[in-house]
Amino acid sequence: MADDTVDSEFAFELRTCRWAERAWPPGGNAGDSDGPATIVARQLGTKRRRWDTIVFECDPGALRQRAKFGAKRLDGDLLHIVRNAPAEWTYYRDALPHPGYPWRYVREAIHRADDRGILETRKNGNRIEIRRKWPYPEWVERIVAIENKPDLDASAARTLGPQLEYDVAMSLADEVWVATQQTGERVEPVLLEGLPVEAGVLALEPEALEAEVAWYPRSLAVEEPGTRILERPDDGDRGGSAARFEYVDPEEKATTRRLIAERAYERGWRSFADTMRPDCRHFELRAAGPQDGSQLVPYCTGKGDCQTAAECAGSCPDFQPEPPVWRTKGWPIEGGPGKRLKRLLADRRRRRRPGLDGGATE
Ligand code: SF4
Repeated sequence: MADDTVDSEFAFELRTCRWAERAWPPGGNAGDSDGPATIVARQLGTKRRRWDTIVFECDPGALRQRAKFGAKRLDGDLLHIVRNAPAEWTYYRDALPHPGYPWRYVREAIHRADDRGILETRKNGNRIEIRRKWPYPEWVERIVAIENKPDLDASAARTLGPQLEYDVAMSLADEVWVATQQTGERVEPVLLEGLPVEAGVLALEPEALEAEVAWYPRSLAVEEPGTRILERPDDGDRGGSAARFEYVDPEEKATTRRLIAERAYERGWRSFADTMRPDCRHFELRAAGPQDGSQLVPYCTGKGDCQTAAECAGSCPDFQPEPPVWRTKGWPIEGGPGKRLKRLLADRRRRRRPGLDGGATE
């Protein structure tokens, strides 16, 4: 890949995702490049904190079991049902713990689960009874959050520091890392000073897709209460103001982790085309990296570069719709090149989700 294609943080982020998919964990056994036990996603998190790259270390058997529930995410309501659905026919209100919101929403979710083929339902008089099709597996073993900062200088480290401190205090992920571009020199200790000691630092060579660990992270206490930092004083170390924070109980953290994992299962990191304009005549997918011709990254023939997701949006002044003649084969059912590119990426995502060919239809 030419150097200019990794200039943007976006391009670097895509390379980090691909590297993680092939080589996670760093410094350990890279494992089989087609190994199924790692799911990688990007730009996911919570309302307050979104991570760049997220690696889910999975139990291979449980990941295959998860595939039975289909490629689409299970939202909070559906998870409540499939995690508590009984093995024998039971009136749903007897089977499920009170959800903390009105039962009518549970009934709606039961119908949705039935439509998706992930729950069995029947009427017994006026009562809806449910029975599980499969137990919902705990398929995620560890969650690793990575911030991508190709140019990690002292000022970038100072900016990143509070975000990583938030992650460490919350302990929603098992590990947090910063990935930076390898420069051939060791990561300066002064940079590490700006970052919490619990965060790892990874030096990635995006062209060759090789990484070295500059600093190993500490495992965070995901099963203990987290501390959500709401506000921090900006009057420096000597100021008398107190930070505002609240505790988050481990159960809420476990629920949030499951919801993030479900979104990651559906989207993965190749969903970048969903927010870009593959229906533009300038949009292409090009192979990245001489060592890794199989990674497809976006490329704009108009700009002659890997465009960012923000540039490649409805507001792009250079957008030109793909000509209708490109769509003549089978259009509109098959769609034009834009649709085909999305399908190509979706097929690749599917390959990382073993077992998806059986089970639920969606
Ligand atoms: S011209 Fe604009 S919309 Fe079209 S591919 Fe390039 S960045 Fe995307």
